[in-house]
Amino acid sequence: MIKVVKFGGSSLADAEHFRQVAQIILADKDRHYVVASAPGKRYPADVKVTDMLYRCYEMVRAHESIDTYYEQVKKRYTDIIADLGIDFDISGELEYVKNAMLHASGRDFAASRGEYLNSLILAKFLGFSFIDAENVIYFKENGQFDAEKTQQLMQEELKKHEYAVIPGFYGSMPNGTIKTFSRGGSDVTGSIVASAVGADLYENWTDVSGFMMADPRIVKDPCAIDTITYRELRELSYMGASVLHEEAIFPVRTAGIPINIRNTNRPEDRGTMIVATASSYDKEHIITGVAGRRGFSYINIEKDMMNAEVGFIRRVLDVLEDHELTIEHLPSGIDTMSVVVHSDALEGKEEKVLSSIARRTRPDSVTIESGVAIIAVVGRGMAKAKGTAARIFTSLADAGINVRMIDQGSSELNVIVGVDEADYERAISAIYHEFVKA
Ligand code: ASP
Repeated sequence: MIKVVKFGGSSLADAEHFRQVAQIILADKDRHYVVASAPGKRYPADVKVTDMLYRCYEMVRAHESIDTYYEQVKKRYTDIIADLGIDFDISGELEYVKNAMLHASGRDFAASRGEYLNSLILAKFLGFSFIDAENVIYFKENGQFDAEKTQQLMQEELKKHEYAVIPGFYGSMPNGTIKTFSRGGSDVTGSIVASAVGADLYENWTDVSGFMMADPRIVKDPCAIDTITYRELRELSYMGASVLHEEAIFPVRTAGIPINIRNTNRPEDRGTMIVATASSYDKEHIITGVAGRRGFSYINIEKDMMNAEVGFIRRVLDVLEDHELTIEHLPSGIDTMSVVVHSDALEGKEEKVLSSIARRTRPDSVTIESGVAIIAVVGRGMAKAKGTAARIFTSLADAGINVRMIDQGSSELNVIVGVDEADYERAISAIYHEFVKA
């Protein structure tokens, strides 16, 4: 059995966490490949090393001296080494990184050194091989991840090592320069490694015990989700974003490898399993989770006999495409349709979008309404349980909340409701408590 384990920045922020991490890894011989992030925050006001490195890069560009500030970066690493009591001289590496930054090595290079240096230390501490991501993760000329080349070269390299640490977050371009994934991208590296070695499990260790059924800032002590499918997680993307990088799902999903979100500070917790399919569901709760977000707008279009007009929706969508607006939802009636878009993206384009739609479709009316929150109630159990929608809407009605939009995916996996932004938190809470009885 092969497990690939990824540890986030908060799990590797200081020596104490390094010890916890080592204990977790060494407790299970199946944990062969470790993907490490850069040191994260040790306390709320602390600065992540990645952010410090971005700052160094900016300082060099502004022709400011980084001498003093870079000392703080160095100290993050030398403190960890000293506290762990390992015999490892990292000063040459630290000097090299500083010089490279002073000689215009690029923004991504600077940022990537956070994971590079941390992984060197972790490999040393564990007695594992160190494999530089630069030699196993590749991007194409256009900046896209090169899955084929990576898969092949990574497989060849990993075969040579029984146990290894690989830095997360970056890889190399065809010309050898360093490129990073977007922020939080070590999750993506972990997923790529898991897929390359055909792992049985990808454990993603962070500082929470998996996904909760609702946002804990809204619902006090929500129940944890034991098992969730990839599709449900996508539907609940409003919720997962801060725990797992969105792009981390695809490599393992294609390879059929489950992800287990675990808590480094509470290794005894099972965390959440993300799986391809699950026939079983929690009969007690029916729903897997409820999540949402504020900041949406509706574009409402009305026209008599809209349903009989060939190409009507296409013309509307063409306008949105011309204005580079992505569509979140598309609820429609016989002679009405609404398009739900992000208010941020629409800002400043309202008049143009309205006049283009008016010109292209000659509607009876077209209006924009903003201030909408979208809530997704998701659960693979919903298709089998009757009366779920009734329960959702009754709970909202009982809380005195006006529902402004309803959309149900044909998969019966989710029900989407639009409410006023002012009602957002109460709506989440009402739905959660309808399905989870205290
Ligand atoms: N260190 C990087 C960041 O802060 C990548 C990661 O932690 O996954 O975004």
